[in-house]
Amino acid sequence: MTLSFRSKLLASHVALVLVAGGIAFFTLDRALTADLLHQLDQRLEEQGKGAIEWAEGGKRHPDRITTRIANIVDAEVTLFEKDGTVLGASSPEARGDVGPELAVAQAGGVGKATRWRSGRELHYVAVAGSEGTVLRLAQPLSEINETVGAMRRRLVFASTLAMLVAIVLGFLAARVASRPLQEMTTTATRLARGEFDAPIPEGDRDEFGVLWRALKSLASQLKARIGDLVEEGDRLQRLMTIRRDFVANVSHELRTPVTSIQGYAETLLGQEETPPSIRAQFLEVIHRQAQRIGALVEQLLALSELEARGRDDLAREAIGVLSIARHVAETVAGHGESHGKSRTVTVNLEGIPEAVLVLADPEGVERALLNLVDNAVKYGKEGGTVSITAAVATAGGKETVTITVADDGDGIEAKHLPRLFERFYRVDTGRSRQHGGAGLGLAIVKHLVESMDGAIEVESEVGKGTRFIVTLPAPRPSTMTKL
Ligand code: ADP
Repeated sequence: MTLSFRSKLLASHVALVLVAGGIAFFTLDRALTADLLHQLDQRLEEQGKGAIEWAEGGKRHPDRITTRIANIVDAEVTLFEKDGTVLGASSPEARGDVGPELAVAQAGGVGKATRWRSGRELHYVAVAGSEGTVLRLAQPLSEINETVGAMRRRLVFASTLAMLVAIVLGFLAARVASRPLQEMTTTATRLARGEFDAPIPEGDRDEFGVLWRALKSLASQLKARIGDLVEEGDRLQRLMTIRRDFVANVSHELRTPVTSIQGYAETLLGQEETPPSIRAQFLEVIHRQAQRIGALVEQLLALSELEARGRDDLAREAIGVLSIARHVAETVAGHGESHGKSRTVTVNLEGIPEAVLVLADPEGVERALLNLVDNAVKYGKEGGTVSITAAVATAGGKETVTITVADDGDGIEAKHLPRLFERFYRVDTGRSRQHGGAGLGLAIVKHLVESMDGAIEVESEVGKGTRFIVTLPAPRPSTMTKL
């Protein structure tokens, strides 16, 4: 059986009162009995000593004198001769009743004894006179026993009353003491159910106050911890989704060229005598699709390399925008030729002042610009112009450099712009794929630029063209003058 805290408190209270009452009762009883016996003993001794001379004087009429003394002292009186023979007694029973008290008195001391006689307990005190005569006084203890009994009854009554009062007080005290505990139990149960907004009082300055405050801090810590865990769970869920989508996208991108290569290769292997022109055509397709796979793998590698590399691994150098742009323009022209579909697009670098420098990783800037210019050529107007411009600007008290890559192509519809930098996002799937793109280029550019503490934006108008604006930190003036 499990007792509640309140019952335990009440039980201990009652037990305490019982033990205290028992000890008080026992001690009082013993003390009272001993005290009354002592008083009787003293009274008998004094009376004996006071009456012995008188008794010796009236020895010739022993029965008369003992009776008279008995009436005065209100006790049974016996008078003994020096040799111990009974001279006279106030009651006939006393004559044959001789105890050890007589010998003590005969030896000159005060003889005392207590014993039962005819169903009564008597206390005897014997004293000797100058002639050796012994006077013995005896009194029954029943009076003392009656007094003690009455006292006991009173004590029992008082103890019972005290017990009742103690139980009532104990009950009230247990209620008062257990109330905060009950409230705490309720609050803790609510917390366990996840109700962290349950009100928790500040508490008083006592131990319960300390407990309340501890509970409150526990609740807030628990709430924060669980919030963190939920957030972490959401984040993991999002990461899982991104990863799943990524794998699905990569597989999807690979499937078309791989199927195509398989198909053409099987045809070539199956037909032993293929005309050389068709053979060359098939091989050309296989080559193009293999190049597509190669480009995709290269982009994927670039992305994973970027992700693995922290932003601290990138160099921070003051580099001239114009020299990088020139290099990019040459590479793009080379791309066109190597693809065998050189577009007549002019790359204009006139808007880049010689002195404009950026503080960035040279390889990173070149890669980002190459991607942007490549796109501008790919999606720009046939016979159009791609302009790269650079300018120094001040944003938030810091000097920055904006590099703009603008084309005069078809432009991009506004609805596509917010998602343009997402991985595998393509505006016109057919056209993009025709150019061999998987929609990873701009995602790589954004990642690169942001790793160099920069930013990228896009502006576009359908039919007029598109502008990509890259902002990168400028070197501090001292660096600029030095260079
Ligand atoms: P891709 O490798 O397919 O070119 P990107 O990430 O470089 O992928 O570009 C994403 C999409 O943005 C492209 O599919 C293309 O439709 C569009 N795009 C990028 N640059 C331009 C541009 N200069 N003009 C028009 N559309 C562009």
